[in-house]
Amino acid sequence: RTVYVNGEYLPEGEAKVSIFDRAFLMGDGVYEVTSVLGGKLIDFAGHAKRLARSLDELEMPHPLAEAELLEIHRELVRVNGIDEGLVYLQITRGAPGDRDFVYPDPETTTPTVVLFTQAKPGLADSPAARRGMRVISIEDQRWGRRDIKTVQLLYPSMGKMMAKKAGVDDAWMVEDGAVTEGTSNNAYIVKGNRIVTRALSNDILHGITRAAVLRYAAEAQMEVEERDFTIAEAQEADEAFITSASTFVMPVVEIDGVTLGDGTPGPRARRLREIYLDESLKAAI
Ligand code: PMP
Repeated sequence: RTVYVNGEYLPEGEAKVSIFDRAFLMGDGVYEVTSVLGGKLIDFAGHAKRLARSLDELEMPHPLAEAELLEIHRELVRVNGIDEGLVYLQITRGAPGDRDFVYPDPETTTPTVVLFTQAKPGLADSPAARRGMRVISIEDQRWGRRDIKTVQLLYPSMGKMMAKKAGVDDAWMVEDGAVTEGTSNNAYIVKGNRIVTRALSNDILHGITRAAVLRYAAEAQMEVEERDFTIAEAQEADEAFITSASTFVMPVVEIDGVTLGDGTPGPRARRLREIYLDESLKAAI
């Protein structure tokens, strides 16, 4: 696999970053994951915009213009022959000569930029989407700026491990009695023709897939209600689903051992997935 590091395309085994890189020492970096379908990027502009916002929130310089980032994404997809898969992009505050809590001067420390691809055949025509996911609820113990897409993913990793040990697919995180989001996705319930999902704030990541799906709701003859919901309300909902760049719209069929409906993906979640894939493919670049 060919990867990109700080201006160079290299075989993955030759790519190197400093041990003083602040992402390695302090989790001081941000990332984006953009999906690839039919060799094209899904909602690249949305990801580029959120990346810029994450960088601004952390007072990090923007090392590359959007057009340059797009070019690197496309080149990696091309050289690695990715038809279905993901492009991972990470920008860190870089590697000052030593460890220090205070941000280094951006004049003397340049950001580290890393991109690589992951081939994922079957991303769109997914067996998991046909089956539906089972989730458990766990307490949300992350920090208070979940709207910034940082590489500090230890608690989401712990959450995925809790799910794995419980024999299910993922965990929904709960704070003050309400669902925030999934470990790596936004969470939704469906009641009649209404999609209910938590409103945007610092408490959740502003999903690019979330924005798209809410835009497409009308096409599915559905209304959107952005508000908190509890696990108990979710367990009584008609349907539930999650969204993320790597899963698109993924039905949820069980929450904390309670089966939703007949335990198979519901018609609205399936329809939203269809519309999302259709529309995103049309707009892919
Ligand atoms: N919430 C969290 C915590 C996430 O990690 C992700 C995916 N990175 C999402 C939501 C979904 O965001 P997107 O649709 O932009 O992938």
